Amino acid sequence: MRTDIKSMYIYELEEMLGELGEPKYRALQIFKWLHKGLNSFDEMTNISQKLRQKLSENCYISKAAIEKKLISSYDDTRKYLFSFADGEYVESVLMKYRHGYTSCISTQVGCKMGCTFCATGKSGFSRNLTASEMIAQLQTEQTDNNIRISNVVLMGMGEPLDNFNNVIRFLKLVSDENGMNIGMRHISLSTCGIVPKIYELADMKLQLTLSVSLHAPNDEIRSRTMPINRRYDIKSLIEACRYYCKQTGRRISFEYAMIDGVNDSDSSAAELGERLRGIIAHVNLIPVNAVKGTGYRKSKKDRMESFIRILAKSGITATVRRTLGSDINASCGQLRGKMSEQA
Ligand code: SAH
Ligand code: SF4
Repeated sequence: MRTDIKSMYIYELEEMLGELGEPKYRALQIFKWLHKGLNSFDEMTNISQKLRQKLSENCYISKAAIEKKLISSYDDTRKYLFSFADGEYVESVLMKYRHGYTSCISTQVGCKMGCTFCATGKSGFSRNLTASEMIAQLQTEQTDNNIRISNVVLMGMGEPLDNFNNVIRFLKLVSDENGMNIGMRHISLSTCGIVPKIYELADMKLQLTLSVSLHAPNDEIRSRTMPINRRYDIKSLIEACRYYCKQTGRRISFEYAMIDGVNDSDSSAAELGERLRGIIAHVNLIPVNAVKGTGYRKSKKDRMESFIRILAKSGITATVRRTLGSDINASCGQLRGKMSEQA
């Protein structure tokens, strides 16, 4: 078994080089090459031929190969279907904003959480991604478009807190100043609410933005659409969110997919307002993306407006998330679903 070298911290590279009888300072040189996006040891021009040979015998460099690419004709959003060495697929979306490029990447192949509105949830779970496979998604997008990505959101396929160790490793590697140097403040992590992991993350005090997929104001509605709620109910989730704010001083954003006739009534809005009272929070309302086989439709515009007004009465700001790339099904999970339908 060769080692996944792009998932290694600098000190781990130093240890490995020690074992190979090489000087430690090579670790930083190799780390820099890997995080610049080199795909072969032979391109590491300041490293001896002998060491390059040793590295390629003992290690491999993860790549994300472009299987398919869709470009939105509305706003230039690009959606990628990537494949990894073992033939698994994930999706990622590259968006252009005024402040730069944001990439939405996947953290798992599929997802175990089974949310009823989600295309990824419907397709089941295959495996966790390694830290290097998360980095490789960003690198391929940068190379393919000749750009630098400034912001990352972990909102693609998978539940990041269900792949905790690899995600933490990714966060530390991608924010390393010798690597891609994308600061924690430019990274958001979205979770369906795995409560013990939110506490663990809070105690690490990373300056990352936490996004919580709430999608319902109470347990009755939430347990119907999000099975995770049967394990960790709303009350314990909101407590964990309060703890996160306290530990990190960061504002939380709550995601709320508006589903016609399910969670979009005025009483749902009022109940949500009560739940979130006193939290430094922002609510993103997202018209639910219709996924085949779910039977869900997006809420009407007047429902969204009414929600915003009612939440404002509880002192909570809510905005309707601008949907980018709507012509290319830019929300994740749908393209991979199509690939497996074809297969
Ligand atoms: N597993 C994590 C992150 C990936 S999902 C999570 O659930 O938060 C990214 C976001 O897309 C989540 O907020 C999720 O609830 C939302 N989402 C999934 N399917 C959707 C759909 N059909 N319409 C709108 N949002 C959806
Ligand atoms: Fe998994 Fe998130 Fe989809 Fe739920 S919404 S099934 S947690 S990817």
